[in-house]
Amino acid sequence: MTNVALAIGGNSGDVQRSLVAAIKILEKNGLSNIVISSLYSNSAVNCVPGTPDFINAAITGKWDKPPEELLFLTQRTEAALGRPNVHRSDTSRTLDIDIILFGKMIISTENLTIPHPRAKERDFVLIPLNEIAPDWIFPDTKKTITTTIKELFNLGVGNRLKKII
Ligand code: ADP
Ligand code: MG
Repeated sequence: MTNVALAIGGNSGDVQRSLVAAIKILEKNGLSNIVISSLYSNSAVNCVPGTPDFINAAITGKWDKPPEELLFLTQRTEAALGRPNVHRSDTSRTLDIDIILFGKMIISTENLTIPHPRAKERDFVLIPLNEIAPDWIFPDTKKTITTTIKELFNLGVGNRLKKII
């Protein structure tokens, strides 16, 4: 069993409902011991004007199959909740699920980069994850989630997130 961390977020449709539905699909398809962080709202940055706020959360769980199968499951889950296959990264989306950590593995293939390459710069990934997995380690930098988030804040990135649930 591998400990895995996922980031989940979206900003169109009933995101809270999609989030609950996504977690059910993940659980049904082999993700066990699921722990969910609080939900946070986050104003859309680097998006076209008028883009609705995002809702973000982190999930941890245990997975006993290869990482590619977890990616396949997260992508099927996104699709089941209405995410189009082709989309622009700067507009709204029902749900995005990213694999942040897969045990201590470092993966760099065409389809999969783990740890997720942008996680360390994203307050909306680190803040929820710090709630449920503060001691987990980024295997590339060997730093914990808590240390990584402190370093991000030291760079002057403020906490823009509002806890909603
Ligand atoms: P972003 O999540 O950065 O907004 P997308 O969700 O549109 O961008 O990116 C999807 C692509 O990212 C997929 O084709 C997938 O193969 C690739 N990818 C690479 N590494 C990961 C990862 N760790 N988690 C999820 N998708 C990943
Ligand atoms: Mg994604």
